[in-house]
Amino acid sequence: MSESYAERAQALDTADELAKHRAKFALDEVVYLDGNSLGALPAHVPARMADVITRQWGELRIRSWDESGWWTAPERIGDRIAPLVGAAAGQIVVGDSTSVNVFKAVVAGTRLAGDPRDGRDEILVDATTFPTDGYIAESAARLTGHRIVPLDPAEMAGAVTDRTALALVNHVDYRTGRLQDLPGLTAALHEAGALAVWDLCHSAGALPVGLDAHGVDLAVGCTYKYLNGGPGAPAYLYVAERHQGRFDSPLPGWNSHADPFGMTPGYRAAEGALRGRVGTPDILSMLALEAALEVWDGVEIEAVRAKSLALTDFFLECVRAYVPAGRVESVTPEAHAERGSQVALRCAEAPAVMAELIRRGVVGDLRRPDILRFGFTPLYVGFADAERAARVLAEVLASEGSSAGSSQDG
Ligand SMILES: *Cc1c(COP(=O)(O)O)cnc(C)c1O
Repeated sequence: MSESYAERAQALDTADELAKHRAKFALDEVVYLDGNSLGALPAHVPARMADVITRQWGELRIRSWDESGWWTAPERIGDRIAPLVGAAAGQIVVGDSTSVNVFKAVVAGTRLAGDPRDGRDEILVDATTFPTDGYIAESAARLTGHRIVPLDPAEMAGAVTDRTALALVNHVDYRTGRLQDLPGLTAALHEAGALAVWDLCHSAGALPVGLDAHGVDLAVGCTYKYLNGGPGAPAYLYVAERHQGRFDSPLPGWNSHADPFGMTPGYRAAEGALRGRVGTPDILSMLALEAALEVWDGVEIEAVRAKSLALTDFFLECVRAYVPAGRVESVTPEAHAERGSQVALRCAEAPAVMAELIRRGVVGDLRRPDILRFGFTPLYVGFADAERAARVLAEVLASEGSSAGSSQDG
């Protein structure tokens, strides 16, 4: 039986059009299923960073702000991310963390929605959100005079009223891997005159987002997960073109000024998505991200999505075949339309099991108390990886089971 899954994996890898991209990454024999937390290093990045540091910084020094394109990096790299999330150029700037961009988007979004005293005084927040979004939204609501309404994203469309200013939603749930209905919920918000603010941390680089096509208002996302930008790589902010003229940033730093080097006391916002900039960009991280994004050259996000679904289907199938019934339970939706690019398995012994998986060369992660999380990054994970991960999981559970049994006996 194990042979047949291994053989199928081999055949699937041989037929896989994206398999050739794996060679672009610095990887070893470890099965790396944590690219949804920290994407792998594209192998050309170290040499590029050596040039950025020794020549651009070390030799050109201050001249690099112009001559090496440092000053315009936030919008240039934003334009490089844009096609991956279905946005036309000129709507994305890179910089700051996702947390900071959530703050900009929520406060600026409420300002677009109007004075809360005129009626739109509620911010709907994904009740299952990655915590930072919820913390920041709560503070933003206190600052702007709004009320937070936590809701399951599945119930949001039915809960939108003429009091809704905006909704802040995670496109893919970081814990379960559930993909939310971005087109449907965005349309429902618009129908009620509210705005849609999407967090793309777990969808950008894993599946088509279609920001422009679905009329999303504002969006944020990080770049160190599926976009492989490196630890703490700067995040991004999308401001739909139609909102840019009225986008009023709560953090109007000098980098978003119409004439930053005029150094004038009065603030005047730049045109366009540049309004999302704040202060001096973190150039080293930013240029590592820019280099890393080259792995996407010639890659269609639709092909990435197709492989992602095939990988997660195959992994689930192997888990069902190898793991004794009742030891793990998938909390990731079966339906493709509701699945992101990870599989989350509930498991009573999750902490010990994940530690042992990592020791045996299968790296996923743990979401306390009982979720084993396996991220599938189609550019560098293959079907043989999925088969091996499921097989090692079954072996670990078999040994955990016997040790738990013996300690109970004893
Ligand atoms: C990873 C992630 C973040 C991370 O925020 P940082 O400010 O980069 O730490 C935020 N939101 C979601 C939904 C995430 O998945």
